[in-house]
Amino acid sequence: VRRPDLRSSTPTQVLGSLRTTTPACTLNVPSEANYTEQLPAGLGARLQEAGVSIPPWRGCPTSTLEKKKRKPQLMEEDESSGALLKPLVFRVDETTPPVVQSVLLERGWNKFDEQEQNAEDWNLYWRTSSFRMTEHINVKPWQQLNHHPGTTKLTRKDCLAKHLKHMRRMYGTSLYQFIPLTFVMPNDYTKFVAEYFQERQMLGTKRSYWICKPAELSRGRGILIFSDFKDFIVDDMYIVQKYISNPLLIGRYKCDLRIYVCVTGFKPLTIYVYQEGLVRFATEKFDLSNLQNNYAHLTNSSINKSGASYEKIKEVIGHGCKWTLSRFFSYLRSWDVDDLLLWKKIHRMVILTILAIAPSVPSAANCFELFGFDILIDDSLKPWLLEVNCSPALTLDCSTDVLKRKLVHDIIDLIYLNGLRNEGREASNATHRNSNIDTAKSDRGGLDAHDCLPYESLSFTSRMYNKDDSVVEKAVSVHPKAAPASQLEGEMSGQEDFHLSTKEMAQSKPKIRSRHTPHKTLMPYASLFQSHSCKTKTSPRVLSDHGKAPDPQAGNFVLVFPFNEATLGASRNGLNVKRIIQELQKLMNKQHS
Ligand code: ADP
Repeated sequence: VRRPDLRSSTPTQVLGSLRTTTPACTLNVPSEANYTEQLPAGLGARLQEAGVSIPPWRGCPTSTLEKKKRKPQLMEEDESSGALLKPLVFRVDETTPPVVQSVLLERGWNKFDEQEQNAEDWNLYWRTSSFRMTEHINVKPWQQLNHHPGTTKLTRKDCLAKHLKHMRRMYGTSLYQFIPLTFVMPNDYTKFVAEYFQERQMLGTKRSYWICKPAELSRGRGILIFSDFKDFIVDDMYIVQKYISNPLLIGRYKCDLRIYVCVTGFKPLTIYVYQEGLVRFATEKFDLSNLQNNYAHLTNSSINKSGASYEKIKEVIGHGCKWTLSRFFSYLRSWDVDDLLLWKKIHRMVILTILAIAPSVPSAANCFELFGFDILIDDSLKPWLLEVNCSPALTLDCSTDVLKRKLVHDIIDLIYLNGLRNEGREASNATHRNSNIDTAKSDRGGLDAHDCLPYESLSFTSRMYNKDDSVVEKAVSVHPKAAPASQLEGEMSGQEDFHLSTKEMAQSKPKIRSRHTPHKTLMPYASLFQSHSCKTKTSPRVLSDHGKAPDPQAGNFVLVFPFNEATLGASRNGLNVKRIIQELQKLMNKQHS
């Protein structure tokens, strides 16, 4: 077994290396073992010597016998080096996706047993539904919840529409032009009617298309697409939205993207985007003359997997109804389309969307949120935000879905390494507060602007905690080329600089070649901000070891916010949205010049 050099490594690197090289002694321990016996001789001492301090709450007491004897006062009792090796404990309920449990067991976690264990003896509670405020308030310093309070502002379609409308009013339509025109029923009924008839007049004989969606439902349930006003059924709790009638088609099939986004904290705001995702296809050919055919107009897999064409080998897309995002981008590159430009727009859209709710989300410690952003690309390659899902589906329905296993692994890496980083702050917070919830806007032990670290470091550093030893070199070498200024022209003004018609994409290679150099690597889409600074090669520096800035990457998660020193500062001590928007605009102007 190759042992890491503990002296020259940072704490996180040490942990990462340990996981890679000595799985039995960290997260991957057999579930019923006596963990102290699993310790390689002298490991605890060597970790201490290397300056690695492991939060005492990384593990819970495990033996039932032990528990009968004592209450789990983890903070004091687990300070011994042996506590490092106690297995982490996860808690689930009947709504928890099986893949979560399976990944955690694979990593050596134990499943929480209500009968056998103390009520507080768990480290991570992962379930589909949100947590009650009292559960957030009572969360212990060693525990994590997989939902953040207040995120329905983003995940309910009507709330999302209202928040984005507000942002549009505050910061301009050009920034917030990525959501289709939306009316929230019943309040906006008259506005919608006025818009509908005005458009009808403008279009003359051409038809206009609308989609009506229940504000709270998911999986395509209760959706109606219509063109004629007489087909519109008004209902409470619905939104009516402009139907994007010119979607990018692949082999004549409509598709949308499922982008995974993990917010590890709202105060300070910290956003990661997963560099792999899903492309979900309709299973019947797109046809505007039949708006009732859900298999042609809705891309939800829950609908399409039961369609007659699901199993058939379909033109270009093949069998089933999903691709990975990397396959999609590689398909775009084969048509000389600039996938990096599209990816940057998506990152920006994610930041701008989360910024819309971040100031009003209550502070809460020890929780994170995985969001599923549904994004439709039109035939001019403009991305449109359809909705944001909480608890995005983690079911494994087909071979493409296996990426969700890695996704869960990477979430655990992200959360637990961040937890490690926040050790000092969390510990002192935990001892000085009874409540972890603070509805006031004050920040929770954040940094001052002068604590911030250089931009290059923030956006360039790679981490070494993946199972794959080569990951550092990979992350550095696959950086996309810095985007030429021309690529970004028109992005914010909505003037796309290349157009591929739906027909062309489906049938033949576009005649007008894109001006953009296609990327040669399979996974070229690193963070927008990484590409900006990747010319300056710096030696990897793990800022988080000082407890000062978020990790730039964990597995396939890439930090997209904060993206520079100024936004790091603006996200602390109260979120300064105006300042952040200015920075985004500055960055874009810089790329334009
Ligand atoms: P749900 O929560 O029910 O999945 P979505 O908003 O994601 O609701 O819509 C379901 C599907 O309907 C999407 O995946 C997409 O294929 C289609 N869709 C939704 N809104 C639009 C729109 N404005 N334009 C075109 N297609 C849309």
